[in-house]
Amino acid sequence: MPITVVGSIAYDSVSTPFGERQRMLGGAAVHFALAASFFQEVRVVGPVGDDFGETELDVLRNRGVDISDVERIPGGKTFFWRGKYGWDLNSRETLDTQLGVFEGFQPKLSEASRSSDVLFLANIQPDLQREVRAQMPAARFVALDSMNLWIEAARDSLMKAIAECDCLILNDSELRQLTDKASLYAAAREVLSWASSPDDSSPDDSSSDTTPSGNSAPAGGGGEPSVRRGPRVIVAKQGEYGAALVTADGFFSLPAFPLESVVDPTGAGDTFAGGFVGYIAAHADEEITDELLRQAMAHGTALASFNVEEFGTHRIERLAGAEIVARVRQLREFTQFSAAPVPLGE
Ligand code: AMP
Repeated sequence: MPITVVGSIAYDSVSTPFGERQRMLGGAAVHFALAASFFQEVRVVGPVGDDFGETELDVLRNRGVDISDVERIPGGKTFFWRGKYGWDLNSRETLDTQLGVFEGFQPKLSEASRSSDVLFLANIQPDLQREVRAQMPAARFVALDSMNLWIEAARDSLMKAIAECDCLILNDSELRQLTDKASLYAAAREVLSWASSPDDSSPDDSSSDTTPSGNSAPAGGGGEPSVRRGPRVIVAKQGEYGAALVTADGFFSLPAFPLESVVDPTGAGDTFAGGFVGYIAAHADEEITDELLRQAMAHGTALASFNVEEFGTHRIERLAGAEIVARVRQLREFTQFSAAPVPLGE
């Protein structure tokens, strides 16, 4: 089933111990769309400025991504981000963020984008995420990503956006920051506890005008009753340590795919989300079980591992489906073990 994504479409300048690149194609929506395009048709919603080149748009077109809702704002400047990594590639310093055309942007989704069953609210101002969410009340699966900036600067709006989605995908530190819990597992369980039945009044839903879905049933749009509100799937991204999945039914964790060389981790989280959500979208007519979510985690993990091998979007641009399949298989081998009990002393 087609996927609509809103989020940053950007130029990124990145410095890592392995080199530096200026004004590469980047942005959360871009990294997500390229990864998800291996699974389903993806429609990108977002603005770019006069400075955004056709070559960059071609990168999306070449992967079959629908860019009809990428709006060029005359006189505007494309979102710009500059970041720097040290030897610990799990932490980075943001040196500059220029929202550019995202300031004051009011998304108007085309009929095609509105009709997607799956929606990914990639990292951008939560108000904007909510505006897009409101235009897709019938979406069957809605996932959301965010970051420390919005947790600090727009917490109320972010809480409302979270209450309107089915799946929350955050970095581990951001999940802790959001919930004030030290244990990642406790933090994820805390977010799960925010979900409520439609009859409950959740702390953040008073001004909400949408009816989010449960995982296994259509959303409330079109007169169907909603099942419950708030995320019931939590994914904690842990950088080079992998990702963890927490649902009401269980816990699952995968390491990152072991690589000898990591060049640029920028966009790894969004690429992971593209593989994860893309896999779910490819199975959207099935019930979203924990087993399906585990398979989605493996595909997200495999996709992310390719992204970090080169700067920007370069590696994903020339990735083949068979390479993803092979890496998922290897990941399965790496993470399997048989229970072989030995007699243990008291
Ligand atoms: P990730 O490494 O997966 O967290 O994503 C990095 C991407 O997020 C980069 O390509 C940036 O352009 C984009 N990005 C960085 N800061 C922001 C922000 N404040 N809002 C939206 N996107 C951002």
